[in-house]
Amino acid sequence: MLKIHQLHKSYPIGDSSLHVLKGIDLNVEDGEMVAIMGSSGSGKSTLLNIIGMLDEADEGEYILDDLPIKDLTEKKAAVYRNKFLGFIFQSFNLINYKNALENVALPLYYQGMKRKERQELAMFHLEKVGLTDWAHHLPKELSGGQNQRVAIARALAANPKLLLADEPTGALDTKTSYEIMEFIQQLNDEGKTILMVTHEEDIANMCKRIVRLRDGVIMEDKKVTQVRAEQYV
Ligand code: ADP
Ligand code: MG
Repeated sequence: MLKIHQLHKSYPIGDSSLHVLKGIDLNVEDGEMVAIMGSSGSGKSTLLNIIGMLDEADEGEYILDDLPIKDLTEKKAAVYRNKFLGFIFQSFNLINYKNALENVALPLYYQGMKRKERQELAMFHLEKVGLTDWAHHLPKELSGGQNQRVAIARALAANPKLLLADEPTGALDTKTSYEIMEFIQQLNDEGKTILMVTHEEDIANMCKRIVRLRDGVIMEDKKVTQVRAEQYV
């Protein structure tokens, strides 16, 4: 699915720079479910954003689905993002004046899908996350867990190969977090490749592999026995 070799990233700060990623090597196969862990500021989001083509590395190699990601134009990067990747964020990142259905349908609009078709597909995905009855409600009328499910439906609408999640349970209480994890585990059971940033051990243990970042390098990368979320919900 993806191969990363000796990836480096620095951010300029004044006259100097902050070296955040210092030679990351990471391979992820189809169907994996990987947690990226590390303390705050360790570069987890930076790595996920580079993988998501929201940001670019300074050095190193990144191959996504056999495609070298380097020096892409913004337009090409957007095409690949829409085609390959789905994103979930801690803060849901829904559009607050659009209802659930419209939020889910939006990426399909950018793919050039016709209105009726995208409404139907968006409804199908809302149904999958159990929100049929909430399709015409705005984000402010939904709970945090419901909004994250809308965001998951949106991320899945365009059938991405890889789902990227940056602290998807970070804004949710424990019970709701486990409900969201149960859902994400089901997606992985169905074959979706998932890469998730978290700093919570219990959430990471619900993945199948844990990669730990420290001081800009991977200090540990191990397979784990997946703890199933459904036993807690
Ligand atoms: P994490 O997600 O692990 O908390 P980040 O990847 O967000 O860490 O950030 C890693 C380091 O890079 C932090 O010290 C952060 O302040 C810094 N950083 C992140 N984004 C930027 C940016 N756009 N400009 C400057 N510094 C940044
Ligand atoms: Mg972060």
